[in-house]
Amino acid sequence: MSAKILSGTETAKTIREELTVEIAELKENHNIVPGLVTILVGEDPASQSYVTAKNKTAKNIGIHSEQISLSADTSEEELLALVEKCNNDDKINGILVQLPLPKNINEAKVLTAINPDKDVDGFHPVNVGRMMLGEQCFLPCTPHGILELIQRAGVETSGAEVVVVGRSNIVGKPIANLMLQKRDAGNATVTICHTRTKDMAEHTRRADIIIAAAGVPKMITADMVKEGVVVIDVGVNRIGMSESGKAILAGDVDFDSVKEKAAAITPVPGGVGPMTITMLMKNTVQAAKVAAGLL
Ligand code: NAP
Repeated sequence: MSAKILSGTETAKTIREELTVEIAELKENHNIVPGLVTILVGEDPASQSYVTAKNKTAKNIGIHSEQISLSADTSEEELLALVEKCNNDDKINGILVQLPLPKNINEAKVLTAINPDKDVDGFHPVNVGRMMLGEQCFLPCTPHGILELIQRAGVETSGAEVVVVGRSNIVGKPIANLMLQKRDAGNATVTICHTRTKDMAEHTRRADIIIAAAGVPKMITADMVKEGVVVIDVGVNRIGMSESGKAILAGDVDFDSVKEKAAAITPVPGGVGPMTITMLMKNTVQAAKVAAGLL
């Protein structure tokens, strides 16, 4: 068997087209233009390129987008003051502070300072709590993207054995929680593996769905999965450099061997990555609708 390729690039494009229509309707019918601000502190090239991509995507689909870049020596007080200004700016529905922040700034303090109704990254403890309770909230973008990808591909999750590899606050824990919930793309029986898991292959071999988010290139190999498994590869690992100076990326899954046993698999790049940015846009539109009392 060779797996169906679950293209995040194509699914994200479809969702962006849907959002473009929705944003145009919001303007036409309610005079609402969703607004997003991204705040970058420092000059980390990877963070710079993520922020640029987020702003470009926002502009392309009709979101009012502001990009604020601060120098690496910005103080915590200055950043908190900026967040507060954005909290009070009616043009801004979503605030994204690009992580990681420089060492002198307390990340948790900054994320908690964002108004939870503008927390389109879904990292504020209020949104994390609401997510745990299954209440309306902003879902963190990567898990949100995984849910959309699974759902739109028609993958059955109810009663499925799902094994999540990784327990970070931004991917592993939230996706495990969401797939456990009584909701679409939920109702699964979920196991979470991490570095202290004794025999990871024992878990992955019985999984109907594997979500790999460890940050270890090609760690899930064909002998660790069963025939017909659905594999969502979240990992993005730089494993080298091409002659033209472009980073060569690999996921956490050994794509070439696992695709011969899997029913469906996401590629890297072109899988979960494009979905993550698109879910930020979706959350920003949701924030604008909440602010206008439309949700
Ligand atoms: P993270 O914070 O470093 O967490 C990694 C998790 O994987 C930890 O829970 C760790 O366990 C576990 N782990 C690491 N090595 C392992 C091993 N050998 N066996 C079992 N578990 C292991 O990483 P993250 O932020 O969740 O990101 C994970 C990967 O996804 C990275 O490659 C990242 O670049 C990628 N990512 C992609 C997107 C996207 O949009 N495509 C978004 C976010 C992240 P312990 O807790 O025991 O240390």
